[in-house]
Amino acid sequence: MAALSRPRCLVVGGGVAGVTAAVALAQAGRQVTLCEQRPTLGGKASSFVPPGRSQLVDNSQHVLLRCCTSLLALYETLGTADLIDWHDSLPLLAEDGTRGAFRAWSALPPPLNLAPAMLALPGLSVRDRLMLGLAFGRMILADRHRPDDRTFAQWLGRCTTTHLDRGFWRLMLTSVLNAEADQVSARYALLFFLDGLMRHRQAYHLGVPRVPLSVLHHDAPIAWLSSRGHRVCTRTLATVRPDTGGFAARLGEATERFDAVVLAVRPEQVARVVDAELATELVGDLPATMTAESIVGVHLWFDQPVDWPPVLGLMRHDVDWVFALDGGRRLSVVTSAARSWQGLSPAAAAQRAVAALRAVDPRLPEPSAHAACREAQATFVPAPGLDARRPGAATTVPGLALAGVWTNTGWPATMEGAARSGYRAAEALTGQELVPTDLPRQGLFRVTC
Ligand SMILES: Cc1cc2nc3c(=O)[nH]c(=O)nc-3n(C[C@H](O)[C@H](O)[C@H](O)COP(=O)(O)OP(=O)(O)OC[C@H]3O[C@@H](n4cnc5c(N)ncnc54)[C@H](O)[C@@H]3O)c2cc1C
Repeated sequence: MAALSRPRCLVVGGGVAGVTAAVALAQAGRQVTLCEQRPTLGGKASSFVPPGRSQLVDNSQHVLLRCCTSLLALYETLGTADLIDWHDSLPLLAEDGTRGAFRAWSALPPPLNLAPAMLALPGLSVRDRLMLGLAFGRMILADRHRPDDRTFAQWLGRCTTTHLDRGFWRLMLTSVLNAEADQVSARYALLFFLDGLMRHRQAYHLGVPRVPLSVLHHDAPIAWLSSRGHRVCTRTLATVRPDTGGFAARLGEATERFDAVVLAVRPEQVARVVDAELATELVGDLPATMTAESIVGVHLWFDQPVDWPPVLGLMRHDVDWVFALDGGRRLSVVTSAARSWQGLSPAAAAQRAVAALRAVDPRLPEPSAHAACREAQATFVPAPGLDARRPGAATTVPGLALAGVWTNTGWPATMEGAARSGYRAAEALTGQELVPTDLPRQGLFRVTC
């Protein structure tokens, strides 16, 4: 009976943003219905079974960093935080075959703890290292004043080299923001380098899920919500209309009333959930003006385990990151901002990935099977000035909140951005403080201004 008296909240969209909003609202004492049109939750961070196989694999290997405090808080709540493997040393391979690792030196305070790693990066000339040092020095000075009126390439100006542009910046920046230095706002590049790598000793640690994303974003949320008396409806398309003192929602064939609603769908999907006039008020011209970039994920299966490190970043190669999974029997290969892979069939993409890996290890055997997934609209490009057009969680309609990676969290299109947006939407509806705190500033970042 207690559940019946709780305010009823509908969350439309079961991606990471919607799942987080649903969990946060449930924690805040609301009675939640989470509605997803597809058969599974997870949205862009989900798994699939490739044709001819029985194993669930991810649409592309997703990773996170320790600075992803909202996503990790969600995983803690769902009891899945232990399913992430953490790497504090990131092996890197340069095009000339030299190897190195991105690893902090614990004896020094942040950000000096990363200086030895920067100096030891493989395949760089003295001039590259000098420019990298200058660029990082400028970033630290720009900590509190992060410009959004120019691209990172413009901000770097002469503090770079062609080699760095195609190597280090491409591997680090493009992998996280999924766009090139001449596309992304300097603010987002600085967010990644300062908050994501430097400001806390562990911020840069790389988390790789040990299980398919479906365990994290489908199985666990359904189990958590259902066991607490909340409802998850998959294969259910929702439409919503503000109605006296609340909302009338059509969930598949049924009509129900709710006190509050979170729209956690993509901006171009909002007009399919609410009427056109309200959709325009909520998302403005974002669907038409926000540009997106693609990501290609290739899975290669081998009959025998291959000798490959668990994680390897490839600088100035045709693919960016390679993950050895299933005890070395599967390599998961990721390429960001993958425009040149456009139009390739899965077989051709797999062939291209194998060729790229053979450039690293000519002894790599022929894979026994492959699967490839190219998400053409994987993530939005965090271009200069975009933030001013990203709406916040609160709307002018009482009881209606927005979530989704594209809302204005100050974060780029990552699972963390989606999780933050979910907590913010729950905050907007409940008035409670729900967004988990960031990692504290350590070392010199306690005093920079
Ligand atoms: C290939 C790829 C690789 C990536 N790699 C990483 C990575 O390594 N690390 C990282 O942090 N991020 C990564 N990302 C980005 C991250 O996955 C996304 O930014 C994030 O998952 C977006 O979540 P979301 O909830 O905002 O949106 P979505 O995942 O798009 O969720 C929206 C959901 O709403 C549903 N929906 C829409 N309309 C309705 C309706 N009317 N009724 C019911 N349901 C509806 C949709 O079906 C969808 O499931 C990657 C993305 C892709 C595509």
